[in-house]
Amino acid sequence: MRGASGSSPGRALLTWLGHGSFRLDSTEGVRIYVDPWLAGNPSCPEGEHDPERADVIVITHGHVDHVEDAIAVWEKHRPTVIAQLEVRHWLERQGVEPDMSLAPNKGGTVTASGVGFTYTDARHSSSTPDGAYAGEACGVVVELEHGATIYFAGDTCVFGDMTLIGRLYEPDLAVLPIGGHFTMDPTQAALALELLGVGRCVPCHYGTFPFLTGRPEQLSALARGVEVHALRPGETLEVAGGEWMPEEEEK
Ligand SMILES: [Zn+2]
Repeated sequence: MRGASGSSPGRALLTWLGHGSFRLDSTEGVRIYVDPWLAGNPSCPEGEHDPERADVIVITHGHVDHVEDAIAVWEKHRPTVIAQLEVRHWLERQGVEPDMSLAPNKGGTVTASGVGFTYTDARHSSSTPDGAYAGEACGVVVELEHGATIYFAGDTCVFGDMTLIGRLYEPDLAVLPIGGHFTMDPTQAALALELLGVGRCVPCHYGTFPFLTGRPEQLSALARGVEVHALRPGETLEVAGGEWMPEEEEK
């Protein structure tokens, strides 16, 4: 079962769970879920529907395809839950333990289990599954213990201030939505990579539904000089000191 695969000390492993959901195992073995949408996610491998453990959950915005499994995972494993202010307050109303220190907003950084999480701008809407106001959608920059920095753009169109994200955080890897319709398409994502000055990209938020038509091959053709890691759902990429390689093949 892929969900049962353990972390590897000293190596950071990024696993795409389909759509905008990721599992990130840090170099020190901290298991992080980004925007967990698992059981209801048509692209999420069955073995990933019920996490065996979770240390941190981080959420970019309140839409159902980014928060749906956060509460169930928290109830089962009691991870640290980091979310933008209004989203965190909504999660608290659903039962997550209140903690203002885990409810930052854009520009703020929270450190959990030795990993840094900084909220950035994103251009998108945000509301919770029950329709409550959820503040503004965000991106998140994750700084791992060994210094590698990953920018999860969340759901967004391209915007000029991505140059600021590039200057401030110098991401080693950008995780960008490319499906179009709700977010950037490959053409915009190629421009985003140029603005960010990033040489490596993991595309996501495509293929889940018929109208999310953007594909990694289109991005690869447009983003010259950028290594596009087109993971399959369940596939893992090693994130280690500028060395990147596919870790596992989907069985
Ligand atoms: Zn989404």
